[in-house]
Amino acid sequence: MLDLRSPELLRTKAYMNGSWVEVTNTFDVHNPATGQELASVADLTVDDVRIAICAAHRAQPMWAAKTGKERAALLRRWHDLMVAHADDLAQILTAEMGKPLAEAKGEVLYGASFIEWFAEEAKRIYGDVIPGHQPDKRIVVLKQPVGVVGSITPWNFPNAMIARKVAPALAVGCTFVARPSELTPLSALAMAELAHQAGIPAGVFNVVPSTAAAEVGEEFCSNEKIAKITFTGSTRVGKILMEQCASQVKKVSLELGGNAPFIVFDDADVDAAVEGALIAKFRNAGQTCVCANRIYAQAGIHDEFVRELSDRVREFTVGNGFQDVTSIGPLINKAAFRKVEAHISDAVAKGATVKVGGSPHALGGQFYEPTVVTGMTSDMLAASEETFGPVAPVFKFETEEQAAMQANDSEFGLAAYFYTQDLNRAWRMAEQLQTGMVGINTGLISTEVAPFGGIKQSGLGREGSKYGTDDYVELKYMCFGGIQ
Ligand code: ADP
Repeated sequence: MLDLRSPELLRTKAYMNGSWVEVTNTFDVHNPATGQELASVADLTVDDVRIAICAAHRAQPMWAAKTGKERAALLRRWHDLMVAHADDLAQILTAEMGKPLAEAKGEVLYGASFIEWFAEEAKRIYGDVIPGHQPDKRIVVLKQPVGVVGSITPWNFPNAMIARKVAPALAVGCTFVARPSELTPLSALAMAELAHQAGIPAGVFNVVPSTAAAEVGEEFCSNEKIAKITFTGSTRVGKILMEQCASQVKKVSLELGGNAPFIVFDDADVDAAVEGALIAKFRNAGQTCVCANRIYAQAGIHDEFVRELSDRVREFTVGNGFQDVTSIGPLINKAAFRKVEAHISDAVAKGATVKVGGSPHALGGQFYEPTVVTGMTSDMLAASEETFGPVAPVFKFETEEQAAMQANDSEFGLAAYFYTQDLNRAWRMAEQLQTGMVGINTGLISTEVAPFGGIKQSGLGREGSKYGTDDYVELKYMCFGGIQ
């Protein structure tokens, strides 16, 4: 069981309008490493969720009327509490999601960094003054909060996915209703406890756990009190939400699937590329939307790269995230496990070679062996679908043109990575890759100071950086006439 310094962080009721609310039904949350039941959490109906939406709607004018400095102070306090309780939050996160404890703590601090960043931004939601187009005209542009935001988030970053959305929303004066993944509601509820302790007023941040994913999604889209939906998850569900928002032309931000290429050129520092590939591929057991999904190695370094990568992958320790030695935790559920198996057996059937791993792990359950597969070709499932597991599929290529063409041969466009020592090639590649983010000689690109987001079917909008508040404000321009 969990050994929390602050047991009040383990919350199981819904957090609405500043209170913990019990409802009739509950659902169980399980530890994916052990299958053990962790908690029974309030399972809200759409009617319950509507109450939270009303609370957020009532609170919004009061919250928006505060000065940026006041909102900043509250967000800053929330950030400080998250950092102070990072060890407890990490335990809760590892228990419900499975990632190694050190990674979980990293996620908590990463999530907190967004709250810090947007606390700072809260004071700088600047508009603009535009020289008039006629002698008597003056033009002023204001940024105003969109209103109530409904958020739907996945299980792979139960803390950070919410932090990245709620922080900019609250900073500009929006209020927020969060529906966390039914697999990982505990991290969201712990964040609500700390928001409460920080003094964030009732109704400003609400967490509504529910297994009725589709119904709550539909309510968010159709309820006129909600002005904007922000979603992270699959492209499939993103499209459903976008369609449902169409009738009210409701604003949507979508952070959807990726299929990131990771390209290693002959002129790369191969050691560094292996290091980058390990991080970009195996972090969170390969369950991130910016994970390297297709690794392209140029013919000249292909064998050396595969050898070094395989040696390092063999060193991973698979296990329960609470054990210090663990570097790869379990997959989130059986469906994830089956997808990994399907991608590997499809690749092997079409001629690929398993260099390392390639089987369920001896620990059983949802543990899968970290895997390296070579001889990949574009007709294999892993070339076009996210594997979302600890599988590194390596494709061999000959020329830069081929690499660029294959990398861009995807309906997704979230992240891409490449390794080269040639500055000209670095610019050429970075400019032609059809993705929202490019890692050049690095496998780790996520930070609160940069705009995270995708193009093509990977989404709409950006999270983090000075651009991160744009998704939560409306521009209003005022035209003053008759100025003498
Ligand atoms: P993933 O494969 O990462 O779980 P999903 O898109 O299936 O991606 O899930 C992301 C989030 O969307 C989860 O919280 C899930 O419960 C929720 N969800 C699933 N289906 C729907 C839907 N039809 N409408 C709204 N939310 C949904």
